[in-house]
Parts: sequence; C-alpha cells; structure tokens
Amino acid sequence: MRLVLLGAPGAGKGTQAALLKERDKCAHISTGDIFRQNLKDQTPLGMEAKQYMDKGALVPDEVVMKMVSSRLSEPDVAGGFLLDGFPRTVPQAEFLEKFLKEQGKALDAVLLFAIDDEVLVRRLSNRRTCRSCGGIFNLLAMEKPSAVCPSCGGELFQRDDDHEAVIRNRLKVFHEQTEPLVSWYKDRGLLREVDASDAPEAIYGRVKAALNGAS
Ligand code: AMP
Repeated sequence: MRLVLLGAPGAGKGTQAALLKERDKCAHISTGDIFRQNLKDQTPLGMEAKQYMDKGALVPDEVVMKMVSSRLSEPDVAGGFLLDGFPRTVPQAEFLEKFLKEQGKALDAVLLFAIDDEVLVRRLSNRRTCRSCGGIFNLLAMEKPSAVCPSCGGELFQRDDDHEAVIRNRLKVFHEQTEPLVSWYKDRGLLREVDASDAPEAIYGRVKAALNGAS
C-alpha cells in the first residue's frame, strides 16, 4: 500500500500511521521525524531545518524533496509506504507523483484527517512525546497527567513547536500552503476523508473503512 496521510498538525497522522504500519508492515516515513532526528544529531540538514521548524514555517521544498527522494530509494520502501507530513505543498505533490511515475508506481490513496482548528490547539498544547520510546501521549487523555511515559517510564517532554503561538502559525501555514492539496488529490480520485475528532481507536476504524477498496 502506498499512502499519503494528509491533515493539519495534531490531526493524528502519526498515531494512525503507527497503527497502519503494524497492519500493513510498510515503511512509515515522517518528514517531521526525520528533521527532528537530524536536529538531534546536529547534522547540516537538521541545522538548516531548525530555523523554519522553530517558527512553525515549512522547510523549503528543494530541501524536503531531496531528503524524501533519498528516503524513498531505500530498500524497506519497496513493500509500500505511509507518508506522514509529506507532501505539504503542491510542488511537493507534483514531485512525488513524478518520482513514483518514473518507477511505474502511483499512490493508492490519500487519507485526509479532518478536524476543527480549536480542537487541534487544545490537543497539541497538551501533547507530550517520550524521550525514550518516542510514544505520543495527550495529558487530557491520561488518567493521571504526569511527566513519565506510561509505556516505558521515560521522560515526557513538550515539543518546542507544540507551544500555542507556534501551533497557531503551523495551522495558518497548513491552511495556506497544504490545504490546496485537498482539491489537487480530489481531482485525481485519490482523496478519502476521515473525521479525526475522536479517540485514536475510533479514528482507526474509520481509516480502515476508508481504505476498503484501495489496493
Ligand atoms: P511535523 O512533525 O510533521 O508537524 O513537522 C514538523 C516541522 O517539520 C514542520 O512544522 C516543518 O517545519 C517541517 N516539515 C515537516 N515536513 C515538511 C514538509 N513536507 N515540507 C516542509 N516542511 C516540513
């Protein structure tokens, strides 16, 4: 299965990707995660991306496309992929279409996670990530909110770009630069919309239903 997960920051793309990856045994490619790993490793790519990420702005298309073309050329991608956070602009979508076409391939579907901005602001500002296992948690959904990972006991931290002012900018960027992809993919008959406003399990049920029929 070759899928794109499309949706505003915090719509649950990463959580659903983790569930789908289990089911379909395909590569989960999150461009945000790749940038964060590069930042942690202090690579030139990470340093360049940081100035944009800190503001909630998009990293320039050429930088992202180069990184994605190298990732999509790795052997584990042959069995299918879930693209999470890419494409985010029309030029990125055009690049992906061309890249796959050159290999005689195409996307099977694009899942759009639809959700209200205010729900996202609440969700993201309460989002915490585990420094050890990378698990994503929401303080609002935890029985006893704490700074300790319920899965592995690691330290939970708040991503710099999950603070409210940055979140609002990321949403603005999403509406201006990424939302045009909705009609772009609709025109190609690939778009499947999923209501992303509930708990992850309920959303996953909708995801599976939406993918019925996609090869
Ligand atoms: P995410 O974790 O997907 O929300 O991504 C975090 C940040 O990484 C974004 O706010 C952007 O600065 C950058 N980023 C991730 N994916 C892309 C992309 N496809 N195009 C441009 N910037 C990206």
